[in-house]
Amino acid sequence: MCRSITFAPGKKVKLADIDPAGVQGDWTKETAAERVKENSLVTQGLADILYAENRHAVLLVLQGMDTSGKDGAIRTVMSGINPQSCQVTSFKVPSSEELDHDFLWRIHHATPRRGNIGVFNRSHYEDVLVVRVHNLVPEKEWKSRYQRINEFEELLVDGGVTFIKCFLHISKDEQRKRLQARIDDPLKRWKFAVGDIDERKLWPKYQQAYEDALSKCNTELAPWHIVPSDRKWYRNLVVSELLRKTLEKLNPKVPAADPKLDGLVIE
Ligand code: AMP
Ligand code: MG
Repeated sequence: MCRSITFAPGKKVKLADIDPAGVQGDWTKETAAERVKENSLVTQGLADILYAENRHAVLLVLQGMDTSGKDGAIRTVMSGINPQSCQVTSFKVPSSEELDHDFLWRIHHATPRRGNIGVFNRSHYEDVLVVRVHNLVPEKEWKSRYQRINEFEELLVDGGVTFIKCFLHISKDEQRKRLQARIDDPLKRWKFAVGDIDERKLWPKYQQAYEDALSKCNTELAPWHIVPSDRKWYRNLVVSELLRKTLEKLNPKVPAADPKLDGLVIE
């Protein structure tokens, strides 16, 4: 058994009370890797049927501090899935065109169509995280966004989207090690931006902004999952388990074939 950490809608979450290195169950790195492999095979099969059925969409939203493992989780849990039935969108600093629209415009455009699995590497939540921490819009504006996000997500759920919202929870010390590794490894250096050091100084403000986003946008329809992410193998296990369970629950079915095809032989 391994579980993401969930909490009741309306309850205020305190990140300091959740151990980012916590492991539930008696998993080891090796048994977790085996399970992730098994989950991958099941997920690939179900994703094919989801695509054939063309009824439901799944949206995996990944949020977390720099180095929390959003890219790594995507690489692990999405590998092997038919690329035609999934798409990954990474949300960066908005372009001037995007800024000329409401904050959900670019997000709505990237939501998965029926039959598909969409993955958001960062998301609309940046608009109450980095935007709030850096005062990129007036307080009144970002404060109004939690409700707008809840309504937007409700709209998508009504349209057939199932959300898996994951917050990859790491400790400040684990971030230090991972940032240092990016500097020290020539193959990882491209991932390091000098601005990451300034962002790290704002750690408490980000944690506060995350606590509000997690608490205010944790709805019955689109709940948040907190994923202890100091151990990469456990993070991968929890996210892959969530994707598998979600697809199993949707239980997609191959569309019924035309009965006229029974016994038909092609000459
Ligand atoms: P990375 O994920 O490392 O490629 O970095 C993407 C950067 O884009 C991060 O610094 C995000 O905070 C930033 N970003 C994403 N969405 C927004 C947004 N809506 N407003 C401002 N910055 C954003
Ligand atoms: Mg970065």
